Amino acid sequence: MRITIIGSGYVGLVTATCFSELRHEILCIEKDQKKIEVLKQGKPHIYEPGLEEMLARNLIEKRIFFASSIEEGIDFADVIFLCVGTPQGEDGKADLSQIEEASRQIALHSKDYKLIVEKSTVPVNTFQWVKKTLKRYSRKNIEFDVASNPEFLREGSAVYDFMNPDRIVIGVENERSEKLLRKIYDYFIKKGDNFLVTTPAVSELIKHASNSFLAMKISYINMISELCEKVGADINMVADGMGLDKRIGRSFLNAGIGYGGSCFPKDVKAFIKIAEELGIDFGLLKETEKINKRQRLRFIEKIEDILWISKEKNITIWGLAFKPNTNDIREAPSIDIVSELNRHKANLVLYDPKAMENFKEIFPESQNMKYASNLLDSVNDADALVILTEWDEFANVDLKEIRKRMRLPIIIDARNIYDLKGLKKLDFEYYSIGR
Ligand code: NAD
Repeated sequence: MRITIIGSGYVGLVTATCFSELRHEILCIEKDQKKIEVLKQGKPHIYEPGLEEMLARNLIEKRIFFASSIEEGIDFADVIFLCVGTPQGEDGKADLSQIEEASRQIALHSKDYKLIVEKSTVPVNTFQWVKKTLKRYSRKNIEFDVASNPEFLREGSAVYDFMNPDRIVIGVENERSEKLLRKIYDYFIKKGDNFLVTTPAVSELIKHASNSFLAMKISYINMISELCEKVGADINMVADGMGLDKRIGRSFLNAGIGYGGSCFPKDVKAFIKIAEELGIDFGLLKETEKINKRQRLRFIEKIEDILWISKEKNITIWGLAFKPNTNDIREAPSIDIVSELNRHKANLVLYDPKAMENFKEIFPESQNMKYASNLLDSVNDADALVILTEWDEFANVDLKEIRKRMRLPIIIDARNIYDLKGLKKLDFEYYSIGR
């Protein structure tokens, strides 16, 4: 089928590339000229395992194209996916201006029937506003359908997740929309993947409810980690024991420094706001946010307690991305932690396998802030190593070599990536979360 994708960010680009891999013909519309230029050369502006190869293959086979305005691409397809950003707006509400602008542009330029599919994460009943906008701005009497099809991929494994979904949810108002979406997702339906057909409002709610639930699970285990520290118990063992219960499950029970990224923080906030507007006090989620914030602060305090004074100490930071296998640093805990250590005038050496370029835009290289070109050199003469993201490269490093290169053998690990006994044997002073 022919499909137009508006917005070629993390979700839009992965959706477009994976759809083209499934033999659909895709037009990506992206208004950021810099992104379009690199994409046309087959170079994704984001890092996702497997994405670059897949994009290159489909560009060569001429199944994926790029354009920079909706006007230019409006005639390409009858089905248009909205993959634009829905960032946090004023008072924590979702800022839907990109959704509104794209809907308005579609209405102004469409000459015939279009199905508009919301893939962006939006508050419940946004589809009603999209419908209204299409009607208001459409010049002729053109028919539009609006459907919801939230995206559940995880950054860092986005291509894999898109191709192997736990479920595909579509929210439709009529048979015509359902038929079109079934055709698009035919490969997954035939493969036997869960394909849930519901109303647009339910579909929109499923996305916000899922993300908020996962954030809550993370805050829950972080709270337990605080208890573990008080009584000398190991949070990993507690999580393993809990996770064996099928009703609970082990995933999202890793204690750390809380959730970050471009989704959980803003989606939890938006969900609290939606509830508030409907007269409901979502105290459970407010507490989730509070615990998340405190967990970051607790970690900063931990660093200060361990080092006593961080001024002029050589501190190496491993991991700037908000999670492994991505270069995304939006709402990453590293931003707060680097900022705080910088404020205390520590000498910082930063290292991340993929996110350093993005990080330099916020924290340019300076006298007290250097970026290392490789993992081993980053710890030369360090007084302490602080680990903020659980990249495999960190877990698999030769710790004996690290020990040799550091001035003091202190590791402060926010992601519990090493075995306690192993580190003790190597004579490290090792601090982690909830252990
Ligand atoms: P993003 O900011 O990386 O990408 C959005 C893109 O849309 C940008 O490149 C922007 O330039 C472009 N854009 C905006 N308006 C446009 C217009 N009128 N015409 C053409 N291009 C336009 O955002 P993202 O991370 O891909 O997220 C997109 C949506 O998907 C959000 O609602 C987000 O909550 C949701 N989501 C994100 C993830 C994730 O892991 N990133 C996962 C699931 C859902």
